[in-house]
Amino acid sequence: MRIVLVGPPGAGKGTQAVRLAEKLAVPHISTGDLFRANISRQTELGKLAKSYMDAGNLVPDEVTIAMAKDRMEQPDAVNGFLLDGFPRNVSQAEALDALLRDEGITLDAVLDLEVPEEEVVKRIAGRRVCRNESAHVFHVTYSPPERQGVCDVCGGELYQRDDDSEDTVRTRLEVYHTQTEPIIDYYKSQGLVRTISSLGPVDEITERALEALKGEKAENK
Ligand code: AMP
Repeated sequence: MRIVLVGPPGAGKGTQAVRLAEKLAVPHISTGDLFRANISRQTELGKLAKSYMDAGNLVPDEVTIAMAKDRMEQPDAVNGFLLDGFPRNVSQAEALDALLRDEGITLDAVLDLEVPEEEVVKRIAGRRVCRNESAHVFHVTYSPPERQGVCDVCGGELYQRDDDSEDTVRTRLEVYHTQTEPIIDYYKSQGLVRTISSLGPVDEITERALEALKGEKAENK
């Protein structure tokens, strides 16, 4: 299956992506994680991306699309993938369509995670991420690790992402509304969008997502 996950920052995309990718046996491809990996390796791409990320803005399309393309062309993604955080604007969505068209493949669904804005702010303020593996995500209140500051999965140090500060979150939300939300209409016109609520226990949201992905017809509101 080829799936795109969309939703505002703090919608739980990363958390759900890890779970869904495992259930669907496809790789989880997160452009945010790929950028963060480049930042920790101190690559040129990482240095470039960091300035945009810290300000809450999008990294330029050219480098983002090239990085996503390279990852999607890895052998593990031949039979499907779950894209988390890409595309993030209409020109990236068009570039993705062109890439898929060249390969003679199509997307199966776009899963849109809905969450009220006040909840987003609470989620991001308490979010803590593992330094070893940014897909290991906790929340100080909603899903605390067993030992404070330590990842339950791998023992890594938990930290607050630089771009999870209150000011940056405001910019990221605005970027989401102005640049990313329009891709929902773009994909609705292709009949691909399935919208689910991202409120409630993590397991329930995963169930909801799997159910929505099973549906024959997308619920294009
Ligand atoms: P995320 O981990 O998905 O919340 O992404 C963190 C940050 O990485 C974003 O706020 C952007 O600065 C950058 N980023 C991730 N994916 C993209 C993308 N598709 N296009 C541009 N910037 C991105």
